[in-house]
Amino acid sequence: MNLILMGLPGAGKGTQAEKIVDKYPIAHISTGDMFRAAMANGTELGKQAKSYMDSGSLVPDEVTEGLVKERLQEKDTENGYMLDGFPRTIAQAEALETIAADLKKPLDAVINIDVDPAILGERLSARFICKTCGATYNKLYHMPKVEGTCDRCGGHEFFQRDDDKPETVQNRLKVNIEMNTPLLDFYADRKLLFTVNGDQDIDAVFAEINSILEAHK
Ligand SMILES: [Zn+2]
Repeated sequence: MNLILMGLPGAGKGTQAEKIVDKYPIAHISTGDMFRAAMANGTELGKQAKSYMDSGSLVPDEVTEGLVKERLQEKDTENGYMLDGFPRTIAQAEALETIAADLKKPLDAVINIDVDPAILGERLSARFICKTCGATYNKLYHMPKVEGTCDRCGGHEFFQRDDDKPETVQNRLKVNIEMNTPLLDFYADRKLLFTVNGDQDIDAVFAEINSILEAHK
């Protein structure tokens, strides 16, 4: 079973990815982990990727695609794989089609965890932090037990990280929507796209994903 997992920031992709690989014996391939492993192992492509990153430039598609091709030949992908963070562009999606066909490991499904961006904006900008001890809270799910007092250290001062501020969150969502939309169309055209409602509790989201996966085992 060969998959791509998609979803905007805050949609719960990490949580669902964990649940998927807990239940199914497939390799979870996140782009970040793949780069780190290739660089740590000092493979030829890993060295190339490192030299681009060290000089502060983007890693070219050929290098990333080469790494994906190597990764998809590792033993843990025998029963399938789940890509997370790749492809990010149509050119990469086309390259993946070729790679997957060459390796006889074609995609079975692209799962998109769909949540209204307005809801994601609220979720992502709801996080705040205790200034004294760094404990993390969330206005929606996890408020201090006594309002204005940190559960852990009793401190009264809180702040929001720049990454969690509403303008930054909106911008991050916008960039991701612009990146994902053409990919979702690409996979919809190929009848590979399955959309699940991510605005439910974790187990209900997983139940939807699971019924799709059961149909593709
Ligand atoms: Zn505190």
